[in-house]
Amino acid sequence: MIKMRDIAGAAVAEAIPRQRELGTNPYEMVLAQLDGVGKELDLDRGLLEILKRPERVVEVSVPVVMDDGRIEVFTGYRVQHNSARGPYKGGIRYHPDVTLDEVKALAAWMTWKCAVVNIPYGGGKGGIKCDPTQMSEGELQRMTRRYVTMLLPLLGPEKDIPAPDVNTNATIMDWIMDTASIFSGHYLPGIVTGKSVELGGALGRREATGRGVTIITKEVLKRLGMSLQETTVAIQGYGNVGSVSATLLAQEGCRIVGVSDISGGFYNPNGLDIPDINRYVRTSPGHLLRGYTARGAAPISNEELLTLQADVLIPAAMECQITEENAPEVRARVIVEGANGPTTPEADLILEERGIYVVPDILANAGGVVGSYFEWVQSLQAFPWTEEETNARLARIMSQSFAEVWECARERSVTLRKAALMLAVNRVAEAIRRRGIFP
Ligand code: GLU
Repeated sequence: MIKMRDIAGAAVAEAIPRQRELGTNPYEMVLAQLDGVGKELDLDRGLLEILKRPERVVEVSVPVVMDDGRIEVFTGYRVQHNSARGPYKGGIRYHPDVTLDEVKALAAWMTWKCAVVNIPYGGGKGGIKCDPTQMSEGELQRMTRRYVTMLLPLLGPEKDIPAPDVNTNATIMDWIMDTASIFSGHYLPGIVTGKSVELGGALGRREATGRGVTIITKEVLKRLGMSLQETTVAIQGYGNVGSVSATLLAQEGCRIVGVSDISGGFYNPNGLDIPDINRYVRTSPGHLLRGYTARGAAPISNEELLTLQADVLIPAAMECQITEENAPEVRARVIVEGANGPTTPEADLILEERGIYVVPDILANAGGVVGSYFEWVQSLQAFPWTEEETNARLARIMSQSFAEVWECARERSVTLRKAALMLAVNRVAEAIRRRGIFP
């Protein structure tokens, strides 16, 4: 079975169907966000139309011989949203709720994410509708290799570079690299990032998203005059993003009062023992929090986690978690979006009215793709860096990007989300203008 501990943000999937029933479509969120920013930037209507649509959408049917001999056919997608600033870049997600609109939204967010931190990439995303928790390693490997083979003409170090996302990890990236290398006839490490370190994965890449979330949290607290020692934090999702954020923020002196994953969560107003929780999930079934016990750690639901008494809320699971239903109850002063698209546009308005600072996903969780960028550079140059080098460069990019977004928000009197989107969309639009519309 796949190692759940390595999986990025593999939590709180259970809350998604509920939101879907409420009619929240992530791609509609993208369009609503773009309309808002287009107005603010006075963007040409034609350019806005280009940005609203992915450049290319691919759907593949992926037949897999399951361990019991049955053939199962999975639906997979790769959406290439925009390549004006560089090759398409973005993860691949394995989840039962994957839809084309979700992948389209995630691909667009990757375009803005790479632009806001100013790394030379466009945006893309992939996904397969499947339940990896119910599949053997052999089934997962066959599905991955077949999916990649079907997309091969579109992938490449200068074309489109996948990476891990929800329910995918270094092992899966290794299979992708191997499949592409076999077909190319030579070793091709630059085709994918988030590989295992033994195969050219960057030291520090696995922790980069959580490290980036931590850097951003420190930056925002500094601006608000809040000390780390006096800050309480609640984290939804205990996958790669949530657990690393919890670990690093606890090391910085913050009190982590609540954590949760798909199996439920825990609350302790005096602070949870994060190293103890990490020890527990290392060997727990599915690497989930279920079954954890500690004095003072009261069980809570995912819903309860979002409205806990905590200064900082870090949604680090799935999209559409903070909605118009629960936004009025959120008690945090700051939200740092570790997940992609965790806040609906309706909730955003409520949070804005309530004066809650929201550091948007495209900035807050960009540490992952910045780490990927470093890995890609190292793979292309066949020249590995030390973990210290990676972490120092990551900190520089994250802090500088945060400062730019913060300044823009102040100058234009807009939210951090709008400021981040304005900077990002402007960079992409400028690249399109300079390149011109072919032919
Ligand atoms: N899946 C991660 C994200 O959503 C990382 C993408 C990448 O490194 O290309 O940002």
